Amino acid sequence: MRIIRVNHLNTPRWAVLRDDDQYNIMFGDIYRLPADVDARPHRLDPAKMLPPVLPGKILAVGLNYKDHIKEMGHEEPTDPVLFLKPPSSLVGPGAAILMPPQSERVDHEAELAVVVKKKLRNATVEEAQAAIWGFTCLNDVTARDLQKKDGQWTRAKGFDTFCPIGPWIDTDYKEADQAILCRVNGEVRQKSTIGQRVWNSAQLLAFASSVMTLDPGDVLSTGTPGGIGPLQPNDQVEVEIEGLGSLRNTALKA
Ligand code: MG
Repeated sequence: MRIIRVNHLNTPRWAVLRDDDQYNIMFGDIYRLPADVDARPHRLDPAKMLPPVLPGKILAVGLNYKDHIKEMGHEEPTDPVLFLKPPSSLVGPGAAILMPPQSERVDHEAELAVVVKKKLRNATVEEAQAAIWGFTCLNDVTARDLQKKDGQWTRAKGFDTFCPIGPWIDTDYKEADQAILCRVNGEVRQKSTIGQRVWNSAQLLAFASSVMTLDPGDVLSTGTPGGIGPLQPNDQVEVEIEGLGSLRNTALKA
């Protein structure tokens, strides 16, 4: 099932997207599957799509793909390197990524993100797996020059619009070794498979839950493969994950 958030009659609503590009409004507990939906279908206007989740926190992990660890010149970490992106950085499919004047290098990072549906604290990998609501595409946009300058990542990864997410939460997606790609103006810049990751989503959720309580709707982005690189104003950037979907955004000067 593909769950979207959509501006429906000027009100943000969660909805289930159908194969015919129409949607049914959800009601009740959005984390319950199968979802309760209104029977009436509505035609989707892609311009009205919103971020498909409203997380209390967005966790992300640095250095989780073997090819990216290599290109950054690092050793494979012994524990996942966690960091936070603020919820104020979220934007949905089709939204602009605003390139701030403080940075001269704003990079794309194509990532698979997992969304939790249940509270998790000190969870085992099995408990974490059972608490997954679904998966989505995420672009961990990064001001690379500020990341190096600051020595930590809050500013570099925290600007408004630096967390495009979507277009939907897929509750049926199963992690295997699917392709993950980033295209800029149609040209492939990042290409790997999620099997290149050191830790899978359930392992990362279990690890994160040993540090902080995870709540329904929280997002954990599972790292980016090799091939990171800069965006230019007016670039069209696309994160595509095989069997999941494609997230498109445009970079613009702020
Ligand atoms: Mg990243």
